[in-house]
Amino acid sequence: MQRVRILFLITTTLFIFNSSHSQDAKDIGLEAITKQAVQGQLEFLASDWTEGRHTGRPGAYMAADYITSMFQVYGLQPAGDMEWNSVSRAERMEGKRPTQYRTYFQNFNLIEYKTGEDHEFSLIENSDAGTKTTNFAYKTDFSVRSLDVAVDLEMPVIFAGYGFSDKETGYDDFKGIDVQGKIILILSRYPGHNDTTSKAYKAFKPLDRRSNRIRMRARNEKFSKLGVAAIIEVDPGRDVTTAWADNLPFRYNSRNYEGDDPRASYYEKRMKIPGEKLTQDQTSVAISDRVLNELLKNTGIDLEAFAEDVKNSLKPASKELAGKRVRIKTSVESRLIKVRNVIGVLPGKDTSEIIVIGGHYDHLGKHDGWIWNGADDNASGTVGVMTVAKACMATGEQPEKTIVFAAWTGEEKGLLGSKYFADHPYDDAKMILNLNYDMISRDNRDDSQGVKCSMVYTKKYPVLEELANKHNDKYDLGLEIGYEPSARPSGGSDHTPFAQKDVPVFYFMAGFPPEYHQPDDHTSLVNWDKMVNIIKIGFLNIWELANTEWGAEEASPNQ
Ligand SMILES: [Zn+2]
Repeated sequence: MQRVRILFLITTTLFIFNSSHSQDAKDIGLEAITKQAVQGQLEFLASDWTEGRHTGRPGAYMAADYITSMFQVYGLQPAGDMEWNSVSRAERMEGKRPTQYRTYFQNFNLIEYKTGEDHEFSLIENSDAGTKTTNFAYKTDFSVRSLDVAVDLEMPVIFAGYGFSDKETGYDDFKGIDVQGKIILILSRYPGHNDTTSKAYKAFKPLDRRSNRIRMRARNEKFSKLGVAAIIEVDPGRDVTTAWADNLPFRYNSRNYEGDDPRASYYEKRMKIPGEKLTQDQTSVAISDRVLNELLKNTGIDLEAFAEDVKNSLKPASKELAGKRVRIKTSVESRLIKVRNVIGVLPGKDTSEIIVIGGHYDHLGKHDGWIWNGADDNASGTVGVMTVAKACMATGEQPEKTIVFAAWTGEEKGLLGSKYFADHPYDDAKMILNLNYDMISRDNRDDSQGVKCSMVYTKKYPVLEELANKHNDKYDLGLEIGYEPSARPSGGSDHTPFAQKDVPVFYFMAGFPPEYHQPDDHTSLVNWDKMVNIIKIGFLNIWELANTEWGAEEASPNQ
C-alpha cells in the first residue's frame, strides 16, 4: 500500500510539471500553423504536377516525395522500410560492407484489376430427350462484375427469394436450403420494399441509407459464409440492359465532360491488398429479361407472385431450379503494382506506444485529359498531417508519447494504405490513438459562416470531445463542431481500419462540397481560416494527449 501511495505522489508531481511545461509548447506550436504554411503546401500537393495522385501512378510518387521532403524539413525521423546502401565493387574490396538505413516509405503491393472482356453464360437443361445448352452473349444478355480472379463454374441454381434474413422476425430465405457451392438467383432489396402498407415493409424497412448499406454488407458477408458460388441478382421493373448498347446515337455530354467515348470511370479499375487467401466474395451477374424467363420456365417459380405473397405472409419460398444448371466463365485483367505510404515519426520518451496522425494523399488521378486535383479530398487532410508535424517539431520539446505522422495511399480504392499500416504498424508498436483528417477545407451549404465541421470519435473516450471544446474556446478558434461519437466509428475513411482494431479514433471533416470526386475540386475553393483552425485543434488535442495520462471512460457499474 505504502509503495503505491509514493508512486502516486510522484506521478501527480510529474503531471503538474508537465502540464504547465507544455502550455508554452502549445503556444509555440500554434505559431507554426499559419495560413501561409498551409497554403504553400496545399498549392503544390493539389497542383496539376501531381496529376491527381492516383494510387501507384507517377503523380502519386511525386506527391509522396514532396511529403517526405517536408517531413525532413520539419525534422521528423523516417519510420518506413529499411533499405540497403549499395556498395561498389571497389569499396567492397576495401572492406566496406552495405549498411541499412531507414526510409520514409512503407512500400507494399496491390493488385489492380478490372473486369475483362471475355465472359460466358450458358443455361444447361436436362430432359429425357437429352441435354440442351444455350450460350448467351456478353452485354447482349448478361453482364458481369468479376472478382480479382477469374472463375469457371457450372452449378445448379437456387432461387433464394431476396437472399434476406432478419433475426427479429426469424425470416430467412436460406432456411432449409443448401446453397453451399451453388449459384443463387435473388431479387434486389428486401421483402415488401415496394408496398409501404405491407407487413414485411413495416418489419424490414431500413431506417436510413446508412443502415441499408450496413444491411447490404451483412447480406454479402452471409453469402460468403454460406459458401455461395455466384449470384444472379434481378430487379424486376428495372431494365439493366439499357447500359449495354454498343452503338453511339449521340455524343456523351455531361457536367465537365463531352466526347465520343464515355467518360473514363475511376471506379472501373479496382485495387486490393493481395492477402494470403483468395477472396470469399461471389461473382455477380446481371441478366436480361429473356434469360430470366428461360431460367424460370417450367420451374413453377413466379417472381411477381412470390413478391406479392411474401410481403404479407413473410413466408420464404426458396427452391432449386429443377433440371437446370448454369455455367459462368469470367475473365479479369489484373496486374501487381507497387505503392507506398509515407511515414515519419517524432519519438517520445516512451516509444512502446504510438499515436498515429494520418490522412490519405491519394486521389482519383487523370482521365481523358481531366485531372482530379482533389484539393479538398484529400490534399487538405494531408497538409493537416504535415502541418501538425510542423507544429509539434516547432515546440522543440520531446513529447511523453511517440507520435507517428502518416500520409496514406489507396484510400480511394478501399482504405488500403491505412489498412496496411494498421496491420503492419511502425516497429510493431501498440497504437493508442488515431487522428484522421479527410476533407477539412470546405463548407456545406448550410454553413454560411464557414465555421462548421464534424468530429467523429470513439464514444468510450469523451476526453476527445472535452479537449476539442476546451481548445476551441481557449484559443478562440470559433469552430462549430458537430460531434458524432459512436462505439466503433466506421465509414469510408482511414480511421476505420484503426477503429476495427479497437484503437480509439477521432476524425475531422469540414463539409461535403458539390465538387466532391469531380475534376473541379480545386484549391481556389478552400476556406483557409477553417482549415487552419481544424489543424490547430488537431495539434492542440494531440499535444495534450501525447503529454498526459488519459483513457477510456469506465462503464458505470449500474449501467
Ligand atoms: Zn475521396
